[in-house]
Amino acid sequence: MGKIFVVGFGPGAYEHMTERARVSIEQSEMVIGYKTYVDIVSGLLTDKQIVRTGMTEEVSRAQEAVKQAKAGRTVAVISSGESGIYGMAGLVYEVLIEQGWKPGDDPEIEVVPGVPALASCASLLGAPLMHDFVSISLSDLLTPWEVIAKRVEAAGMGDFVVVLYNPRSGRRTRQIVETQKILLKYRSPKTPVGLVKSAFRQAQNVVVTTLEEMLNHEIGMLTTVIIGNSTTFNYHDLIVTPRGYQRKYTLSREGGRLEGQPRGVQPSPWSLDATVPVDLEAGADSNGPVGTDSRVAVPMQANGAAFATASAPSRLSAATTEEDRAASSDAMATAPIHPNFLPVLEIAVSPGVANKQFTPTQLTGIAELLGEHGTITYTPSHEMILKIPGGDPHLVSQRLLDMGLLISPTGLKAQIVACDFCDGEKTEAIPYAEELHQLLHGQEMPNELKIGFNGCAMACYGAVMEDIGVVYRRGFFEVYLGGKRGGCSPHPGQKVAEGVSPEELVGIVQRIVEEYQANAHPKERFHKFMKRQGEVAGFRWDGSVPVKTVEPVCGE
Ligand code: SAH
Repeated sequence: MGKIFVVGFGPGAYEHMTERARVSIEQSEMVIGYKTYVDIVSGLLTDKQIVRTGMTEEVSRAQEAVKQAKAGRTVAVISSGESGIYGMAGLVYEVLIEQGWKPGDDPEIEVVPGVPALASCASLLGAPLMHDFVSISLSDLLTPWEVIAKRVEAAGMGDFVVVLYNPRSGRRTRQIVETQKILLKYRSPKTPVGLVKSAFRQAQNVVVTTLEEMLNHEIGMLTTVIIGNSTTFNYHDLIVTPRGYQRKYTLSREGGRLEGQPRGVQPSPWSLDATVPVDLEAGADSNGPVGTDSRVAVPMQANGAAFATASAPSRLSAATTEEDRAASSDAMATAPIHPNFLPVLEIAVSPGVANKQFTPTQLTGIAELLGEHGTITYTPSHEMILKIPGGDPHLVSQRLLDMGLLISPTGLKAQIVACDFCDGEKTEAIPYAEELHQLLHGQEMPNELKIGFNGCAMACYGAVMEDIGVVYRRGFFEVYLGGKRGGCSPHPGQKVAEGVSPEELVGIVQRIVEEYQANAHPKERFHKFMKRQGEVAGFRWDGSVPVKTVEPVCGE
């Protein structure tokens, strides 16, 4: 029986070739490959028949290999890197399949894996492929350019690190220009880019550049281009994409105290000394106008000793003047720790319980706190989540409160999601919404707990769909429990009480929340808890109307 070894010999140097690759080439009576590649492995070829072919003759190479193997020979078809990545493995199988070959038939096929260019080139750049990446060949000889462009677009959109094979040849020069243009729609011009030519070969050349500058350097058929994602950064001449174990911390308000509190479970091995919890003096509540009087207690003084490793960006976060910011940027430039490695402070911010309007001054202030590396995410519960690498919880929360904003922790917490009370026209119920906010908002819960609070019977903010719904109607409240806004089988909550007087309301909601807090399983959603218990704080769940199953589409 004949045999075909489809061998990936790695980037070029012998020490990067696998033992199996070496042995398979040595065992073969014949070696077939692109002439440059045959030359690379020539040290292993003694008395062998060698078939060297040109670059574009891949199909005839595969056909020749099959022909020779069928005549009983042992043949090695060689590819650079990995033979199964833009290599010969697929072609050999295609030729065989066309001839009706099946696994077990003559000839025997063995694909010998090798180190692909994406791995050898990445190793020379540092660690650019530490997170999800795509590889795209820019050669449009066999793939229409529209398909390639669509893939580049998708990679840009998906924030993948991008590896470009076959980036440019003598005649094919347009593709890399188009690719740069597409990616610049999604990525900073400063995104780190590595150009590696002939990795682990004699003419090896490594260039570290940026997305905007990359075309000013030599790029050819022997180059692999690696373009970072939005978190990739340079460190001296290296390119590193963080693995993603970025620690988060948020505020806690146990006993009225605000603290930096680790959030998420992955500690960052490189920032062990950043774990010191912040010890704070509780500040006094202040009574402000509507929307600002339900502040949580905050520190009046920052504790400078905490979060020592975060000091430079903390200054950035708290920078108020141009000078401060410039000084902080300097500190950033020389800081030994890149923002990508700093734990991230997360704080939820809103303009008020009933107030839904941010002022320009508040937005400018928030932008200043975020600095260059912070982000904002807007949530369906009318909160903005600020994420600030290395942000100092004391300084940041103090600044936000000074701007008249409400702040609370992120994560599994109780949230009061109130309507805007028709911009203050329907004010009667606002004090109760604010009292609930003051008591419950931000409290840690087994899972997210949304308490919808609507100021009139229109309930246009959909309070009845929340875990707990409170609707104000002519001087009294209705209470709905166990709503499920999304997922499989969404449903409104059941009305469990009406005609509840304002004096009773807060106590009732508080008792319901306390029971949930005390008795729910970890991560149990309120509606499930309610159904499991059948009764919460004296309110019964009557079971829902049975659903007639026509065609089950989801598994709950
Ligand atoms: N099978 C190979 C890829 C062949 S496609 C693999 O797994 O790596 C040919 C492309 O691979 C080249 O255009 C270049 O982009 C890349 N390439 C292959 N060897 C390389 C090397 N030693 N250094 C840099 N890029 C290389």
